[in-house]
Amino acid sequence: MARVYNFSAGPAVLPESVLSEAAAEMLDYRGTGMSVMEMSHRSAAFKGIIEEAEADLRDLLDIPSNYKVMFLQGGATLQFAGVPMNLMTGSGKADYIVSGSWSKKAFKEAALLGNARCVASSEDATFSYIPNVDELELDPEADYVYICENETIYGTKYHKLPDTGDVPLVADVSSCFLSEPMDVSKYGVIYGGVQKNIGPAGVVIVIVREELLKGEWIENTPTIMRWKPMAEADSMVNTPPCYGIYICGKVFKWIKSQGGLEGMKKINEAKAALLYDYLDSTDFYTATAAKGDRSLMNVPFVTGDAELDAKFVKEAKAAGIENIKGHRSVGGMRASIYNAMPIEGVQALVDFMRAFEAANK
Ligand SMILES: *Cc1c(COP(=O)(O)O)cnc(C)c1O
Repeated sequence: MARVYNFSAGPAVLPESVLSEAAAEMLDYRGTGMSVMEMSHRSAAFKGIIEEAEADLRDLLDIPSNYKVMFLQGGATLQFAGVPMNLMTGSGKADYIVSGSWSKKAFKEAALLGNARCVASSEDATFSYIPNVDELELDPEADYVYICENETIYGTKYHKLPDTGDVPLVADVSSCFLSEPMDVSKYGVIYGGVQKNIGPAGVVIVIVREELLKGEWIENTPTIMRWKPMAEADSMVNTPPCYGIYICGKVFKWIKSQGGLEGMKKINEAKAALLYDYLDSTDFYTATAAKGDRSLMNVPFVTGDAELDAKFVKEAKAAGIENIKGHRSVGGMRASIYNAMPIEGVQALVDFMRAFEAANK
């Protein structure tokens, strides 16, 4: 069996030990005589799985008790609608910071449903930076302020959150989820699809401050999109994405074994430093994200020559470095170095980059 170094932006690499464990439990989950895919979501065995997953997630993120956790379907994209449906219930207004493709999509979705306003954008420079959060003119009447905390495609991350006063901050954290500690109490809502850093596609985790679950939603919000009844039903208004939640639970335990989020952060910083230090030491490659806004998770870079970029991607693949091609909207290369990418993988990438530079300069 040969595992490659998989730099995919998502669905992405998972810890090998998690996959092995899941394989071992495939036919008979702990004496139940069936796989987790085959059991009732109302069974004692599955109840144990989802409750333990939530408890471990609460532990990892130190989630305050006045926050609800939901494991839902539909990906982060469905929550682009879920957020305005459930939160645009006061003034009906919301402020969006557009720092990349994902926040732009979320903004457009919200604008379909209500009075969404773009308060800052970095589209003028191909989303290569995070708008200055100290220069925002936020609407104190807005129902929420929205950010995408790590823009997966452009490789930028907020290193400082906007001060939104009494207005709840909503963050899409899909591509930086559990990569380092975060202060949950600073947010009204944190949500993310899990296929970047936590598990298989098909699960989105929504963490929401209880006072925002007012039992109100905008007109014609489908039942399944209403957060309060979903939270009260422990994510089981309908069948939850059972198998995906089971894998997420295993990844939470794996993160705990790595020293929790403090431990994860140290490892992630070491991996990112290895790659960025090399990128900064050469003129052959350019890292495209603004230095002060760099992501620990997604590292886009280019040679400046599209043909050379294509050659890089092709030869990298032959060297066991997979999914290194940049997003189609940016081109070049992108290394996604999520939690489960071992430092050996990043070292192998840097070694390859060095050799490619020497051969093509
Ligand atoms: C991948 C991604 C999404 C979209 O996730 P889906 O599960 O495909 O809906 C949204 N936001 C961010 C930041 C992402 O990285």
